[in-house]
Amino acid sequence: MSGWTGTVVESFGRRVVVQQQAGDGERVQCSLRGKKLDVVVGDEVRVERPEGADEWTVEARLPRRNVLARSDSRGQPESLVANVDQLAVVIAPRPACEPAMVDRYVAGAAFSGIDALLIVNTADLLAEAGTSADSMTAAAAAELERLVADWRKGGLRSYYVSARRRDGLDALIDGALRGRRTLFAGQSGVGKSSLLNALVGEDCRRTRELSDATGEGRHTSVSSAIFAARDWSGELADSPGVRDYAPQLVPPGQVQSGFREIALAAADCRFLDCLHLREPQCAVTAAVAAGRIDARRYESYRRLVHLMRELAERRGPRR
Ligand code: GDP
Ligand code: ZN
Repeated sequence: MSGWTGTVVESFGRRVVVQQQAGDGERVQCSLRGKKLDVVVGDEVRVERPEGADEWTVEARLPRRNVLARSDSRGQPESLVANVDQLAVVIAPRPACEPAMVDRYVAGAAFSGIDALLIVNTADLLAEAGTSADSMTAAAAAELERLVADWRKGGLRSYYVSARRRDGLDALIDGALRGRRTLFAGQSGVGKSSLLNALVGEDCRRTRELSDATGEGRHTSVSSAIFAARDWSGELADSPGVRDYAPQLVPPGQVQSGFREIALAAADCRFLDCLHLREPQCAVTAAVAAGRIDARRYESYRRLVHLMRELAERRGPRR
């Protein structure tokens, strides 16, 4: 029996690629031992190849520092990526930004103790807004910039970049990415792949080692992967685009921890366990009425409290 410890750098359902931590960083394809083993990209695992076998298997998962998870429609958790330092939500002027989804990603990261930041890609389109017939309208550009300003007020770091023109990439690397493992998330079409390629310095899609042909998971056509940047020290993780991200289940009272400006204002609510819905003497709803908290952000918060209740009901009592 020969075995070692490594990091899962690519996952394709029940098959993964594990990179050795020591030595020369050998990479092997493995299957997972047992159905219960929940292993995702970023996990540290113990791999072994039994005497005479030609296949490596993941025998065990080491303890996780954190894990970003989603809830499925029945309220069950599904791990997406483990052991990341931060989540970068990528948005763009086109396709139109869904602000509530950004809020849910940022909240989901906070529920797992993961910091978040915002990357506005295709900033070149913003700069050209209104200048020609096929460019975006100046009003749409202003609307996006207003959204970003409100996220900044809520404490979210943000960076404007253009993957195509390579604008703003150095500032993004120096300001946020260097020395860290960052998970990229966002709607498909916002330029996530272009951005990853520009930042990592090679074609991420081509470098993937598991393909549809070799993988067992025909249903999961997209794999997740971690890439080490070629020209600077840092890692970027890509997750399959989730169309409608719902965070892992948390009690309703914990939802505010995903909305920094709401959690801050909550200190002045009359009740310690105020959910900021219809309670009297609520400092949060007062701040919304006074315009100190963005009404759209508050609405996202309110909906997430309801979603968490609904998912908890669907999941049923904990076993
Ligand atoms: P993904 O679905 O998020 O991975 O998006 P892609 O990387 O495939 O990009 C979607 C489209 O946006 C492609 O046509 C890209 O060429 C284009 N795109 C990506 N980045 C930029 C950018 O910075 N500026 C402009 N104008 N287009 C971009
Ligand atoms: Zn309140």
